[in-house]
Amino acid sequence: MVAPQNPTPAGGPPLAQGPADPEHDPTAAYALEPDYVAGLTARLVATTGRTVAVHSPLDGAPLAHVPQSGDDDVADAFARARRAQAVWARTPLDERAAMLLRLHDLVLDRQDEIIDLVVLESGKARKHAFDEALHIALTARYYARTAHRHLDTRRRLGVVPGLTRVEVNHVPKGVVGIISPWNYPFTMALCDGLPALLAGNAVVTKPDAQTMLTALLGARLLDEAGFPKDLWQVVAGPGRELGGPIISRSDYVCFTGSTATGKIIAAQCAERLIGCSLELGGKNPLLVLRDADLEKAAEGAVRASFSNAGQLCVSTERMFVADQVYDRFVERFVARTQAMTLGATLDWDNDMGSLISQDQLDTVVAHVDDAVAKGARVLVGGRARPDLGPFYYEPTILEGVTPDMTCFGHETFGPVVSLYRFHDETDAVARANDGEYGLNASIYSQDGHRARSVAREIKCGTVNINEAFGATFASIDSPMGGMRESGMGRRQGAEGVHRYTESQSVATQRLVRFAPMLGMSDETYAKVMTANLRLMKKLGRA
Ligand code: NAD
Repeated sequence: MVAPQNPTPAGGPPLAQGPADPEHDPTAAYALEPDYVAGLTARLVATTGRTVAVHSPLDGAPLAHVPQSGDDDVADAFARARRAQAVWARTPLDERAAMLLRLHDLVLDRQDEIIDLVVLESGKARKHAFDEALHIALTARYYARTAHRHLDTRRRLGVVPGLTRVEVNHVPKGVVGIISPWNYPFTMALCDGLPALLAGNAVVTKPDAQTMLTALLGARLLDEAGFPKDLWQVVAGPGRELGGPIISRSDYVCFTGSTATGKIIAAQCAERLIGCSLELGGKNPLLVLRDADLEKAAEGAVRASFSNAGQLCVSTERMFVADQVYDRFVERFVARTQAMTLGATLDWDNDMGSLISQDQLDTVVAHVDDAVAKGARVLVGGRARPDLGPFYYEPTILEGVTPDMTCFGHETFGPVVSLYRFHDETDAVARANDGEYGLNASIYSQDGHRARSVAREIKCGTVNINEAFGATFASIDSPMGGMRESGMGRRQGAEGVHRYTESQSVATQRLVRFAPMLGMSDETYAKVMTANLRLMKKLGRA
């Protein structure tokens, strides 16, 4: 095994030189400087003495031995977080927002370090790693600038105009448990936690084992931005082992991952009557209507299907193309896909990187092989690329996929998309809505009005018109999440911060009371109130 061949650009994490297989060669070095790694893992609450080795999917080079947490560590993390939260909840909102703006600057200034670590841990192409820094900067700025809009105490209508004063407070839940996946390790480690902090909560987070270093760099940047250290706790370990201990101590749980795991989490939260938001899987459709700009649609289709090698919850895996433009669209889409560059380097030259693991590669190979064995045609791709790295797979377009094939309805979570022809839009919408998922959809059309009306028929939490997924994902004011088995609750926007608060209504009553007054009988009181109700309706009051 060798360390990545391209040196990290200036500003990245320190890379070790030379052979990098220290487990078998005592003279060898890790791909990252051990001191740098030790500085990151020191942020974990992990005292079991057990470690898990992490290797880079780029070339298999060892990156770290990550200390593992046990139940006692989770208890300790929650105890510290709870103490910190009690103080944090009294910290003025403007101070909390200012820390988010400092984080924004830190993320932009330190993007080389962040991106290098993301690429080394996940194997993705550099341009897809950049999206993670971009998304966190956008999220930090958005919540800092909208803090008062979402969290200030607001007046509401009182039952007796002028005499019942009602206001609603947004009270932090307490300590939020966040369990996140590996596919966008920097984004997923931080994006849901930032509004939780802003709202006055503490966070205990368990990132995925494969991308722990990136998540720990996120924790370090929060410290540097000024957030009190104990407010953000990180534990490491298998989800099956740490999920229960985390959920049993959380006041709210935010989970991102597979639908199967999401159902387990939801059941555990229901036992404790605590809320949860679940951001889960998808089998996302893209519709090319007959009036689409085909160049734009083909360019967008490449990003929709092959960003992060398709390991993206909002990635397109099903494409429905109008009969009238099918051949011309497919010709353009195939040509653009054939022109994509794949590679295992830290520079900007690759259009697509590696899958993250053998498991992911096995799933992709199984889905494509099954489809081909049952009669699907491969228009481009369809091959693993061990010559590039252990888990590389070519961007793949399939035609002739039928319901008996696994990839027809099951999420592949890889660079594989199936093309389908449609004759009329009603049929296309019905097929796009087929199945249990409902995360993201894209529509290409030059008629914005018509596309928006089609969007309203699609059962997905986000719909992008003339864009792959970035328009909704990066518009942080808009809620993002899934319908049906793609999730519950929303990240981003007002919904993304209010999920971490309890709404508390405080009503102050003056002069009149809600009972008979001045010797009035109950019967007279009922008549007076009835007359009042009729009057209020006439006056147009809500
Ligand atoms: P996963 O459900 O296996 O794991 C996600 C996280 O949950 C990891 O941290 C894991 O350790 C933990 N976990 C696993 N079992 C657990 C359990 N029993 N209790 C508690 N925690 C547990 O998912 P994955 O395969 O790592 O991620 C890919 C999936 O995530 C895909 O289906 C993808 O669509 C989905 N995803 C969704 C979004 C979204 O925003 N909707 C974003 C990214 C990924």
